[in-house]
Amino acid sequence: MDATSNTDLDFDACLGSQPDEPAFGPLSRRKLLQFCAGVAATMGLSSAAGVRMAEAAASPSRPPVIWLHGQECTGCTESMLRAYHPTLEALLLETISLDYHDTLCVGAGQQALDYKHKMMEKNKGKYVLVTEGATPMKDGGIYCKVGGRTQVELIREAAAGAAAIVAIGSCASWGGVQSADPNPTGAVGTHTVIPDKTVVNIPGCPPNPYNFLSTVLYLLTFGKAPELDQENRPKFAYGRLIHENCERRAHFDAGRFAMQFGDDGHRQGFCLYKIGCKGPETYANCPALGFNEVGFASWPVGTGHPCFGCTEKGTGFHKPLHSLATVKTLSPPVAFPMVGTEGGQGVTAGAALAVGVVGGLAVGAGAMLLKQMQDNKNDTDNNDSDKTTERA
Ligand code: SF4
Repeated sequence: MDATSNTDLDFDACLGSQPDEPAFGPLSRRKLLQFCAGVAATMGLSSAAGVRMAEAAASPSRPPVIWLHGQECTGCTESMLRAYHPTLEALLLETISLDYHDTLCVGAGQQALDYKHKMMEKNKGKYVLVTEGATPMKDGGIYCKVGGRTQVELIREAAAGAAAIVAIGSCASWGGVQSADPNPTGAVGTHTVIPDKTVVNIPGCPPNPYNFLSTVLYLLTFGKAPELDQENRPKFAYGRLIHENCERRAHFDAGRFAMQFGDDGHRQGFCLYKIGCKGPETYANCPALGFNEVGFASWPVGTGHPCFGCTEKGTGFHKPLHSLATVKTLSPPVAFPMVGTEGGQGVTAGAALAVGVVGGLAVGAGAMLLKQMQDNKNDTDNNDSDKTTERA
């Protein structure tokens, strides 16, 4: 059976005789299966795929990982360390053989570098290379060196023997803050350093740890990358605009905006578009997953800050923080209620007033969207535009 098909399994039958005994480091088989089933569902796969992922994760032969750091703040590793279901330690120490990590290594200096080389040689063609941070290319790459060698050299050397390459974070994906104008060190993403290789990008500043862990589990299980978009981002995580799933979207459609930080609209939780939210042009699942496992709204827009566009090449670190975003999708989500009344039943004065106010606001939002359409003809979906006009 193809585990990536939409065939579901009897989950209970996969639990075995001792489902709650620790079997995978501190994790029980039940917890591991629950996590992998969740990962599979997030990626749009069947529960059979989740079971296969759990089997791959629990396999005694742990796939080796070499993790290199370049120009960055180590926030991506910090983000990974805050994953709890399961913890990064459980995954990386029990599932993956993290043979080398520039900042988590217990060893240091030449001893650590010698060990990295030994592991790369021993596992040639089998290890996963993870890159974190941008790579400076200017002046022969002298602005980032480890052990006296440039990061350009180190990435090319490690990539030559890698089975798969994952760039974690916006810096490794396309340069991040280091590549912001005037980009004094010529910082670029990993794929520019090794253009002949496929690099799976997991952008974000920091990226959501579950997008990374899900991608690694997929690679381990199926031996290939999940479906990618034109920027080599996994579609399961970066297939939808933030604006499509944002909890403030109803305010956008109704024309209710915060105009400055701390004003009445901001305190009431209105849409942050007019103070620079880049959600309308940024693809990521931040509103759906949140961060740090503290529940609903645990992401920048949820806490009152406009989306910065960190997962979008050319947006985060390149567009001014408070500039208006390009609105790429004009139609409200289909689940939103329509503003309308059934004819012939009579309407109270209050209801008519409410419909009038909401309709007026919708016209206001529609006018703003139409202006965007004129400004951004290339990005406009004409069908969506027609629907928006109908609704207004
Ligand atoms: Fe949410 Fe930003 Fe879109 Fe407003 S503009 S609905 S705050 S993503």
